[in-house]
Amino acid sequence: MAESPQQEGVVVRVDARQCEVVLAGLGSEPLAALLRGKLFEEAGVDKTPLAVGDRVRLTPEADGLAVEEVLPRRNLFHRRAKGEEVRRQPLAANVDQLVLVACFGTPPYSSITTDRILVSASFSEIPVTLVLNKTDRAKAGKIKKVVATYEQAGISVVLTSAKREEGIEQLAACLTDSVSVFYGLSGVGKSSLLNCIEPGLGLKTREVSASLRSGRHTTTFARLWPLASGGSVIDTPGVRVFRPWGIPPHELRLHYPEWREAAQACRFPACLHREEPNCAVLQKLQEGKLPASRHRSYLEILQELEEVYGGTTPDSTPTVEGN
Ligand code: GDP
Ligand code: ZN
Repeated sequence: MAESPQQEGVVVRVDARQCEVVLAGLGSEPLAALLRGKLFEEAGVDKTPLAVGDRVRLTPEADGLAVEEVLPRRNLFHRRAKGEEVRRQPLAANVDQLVLVACFGTPPYSSITTDRILVSASFSEIPVTLVLNKTDRAKAGKIKKVVATYEQAGISVVLTSAKREEGIEQLAACLTDSVSVFYGLSGVGKSSLLNCIEPGLGLKTREVSASLRSGRHTTTFARLWPLASGGSVIDTPGVRVFRPWGIPPHELRLHYPEWREAAQACRFPACLHREEPNCAVLQKLQEGKLPASRHRSYLEILQELEEVYGGTTPDSTPTVEGN
């Protein structure tokens, strides 16, 4: 039986029914490839069967290529898909790092958003670089406080101002020779930073947005761009709300690495650091030795995960007052 010739490729853009791939080893221009129906049938909990960065097996079609199979992933950055049903939205596959972009000014800095994305990256075992953009829009004291909070959590932080072209070299250096996914709320300055790093790349970004007649600053589809300096970036559409997917509520605390040491002294080994007696983490928080913003975000994410995946304690009586 004659086997049809097969090729391997990397997905550089995903659309509803098709994607764009670059063939392995050829460094070719992106080619369109159809998504076979069976990929949707096999998608399971996933909203879409593949993500930018996926390696795929391709076969020739009458007028192009078709994706037959998604090859095993090294990792997958994902979020919970919009909608009632609890589904996973794959965002980027096989990446070396997540470049989480946040900013001061507009939109206002949000620690809960940063932490929602951080716990998801940690759950997917993807290292993070936190970029704090629009430093021209904040006072030094505020910036220092945010930097200290995340350095305490073991995250490397890069300060940038795309407007003043500050911190760009440092950011560019951390992208060299790796596959990085840029992620953050819309408006934080992802496109502006990419434009500063590689002007030619920015032009392309804008072309894509324009041709899709989306908003001026909106990237509609995730797209992988090779960098002239080596490596590549995956530019993702900005989101308004990021919700983690799949983290068991009782494991959320493990994604707050700066609590690990204190947690060893908690009375209960499975302490959730919420209201348990003799909780060493709560103690340190009270003493001001751990930042309160991280714990606030933890409680909010924990509650949300419990609503989705079930409570962690039998006596979780619903509270009406509060928020
Ligand atoms: P994206 O949605 O994350 O890609 O954000 P954009 O790059 O489109 O930027 C959103 C807005 O923020 C634009 O009006 C930019 O000019 C502005 N902006 C981006 N970086 C900076 C910065 O460092 N400082 C200030 N003040 N504005 C910035
Ligand atoms: Zn505790």
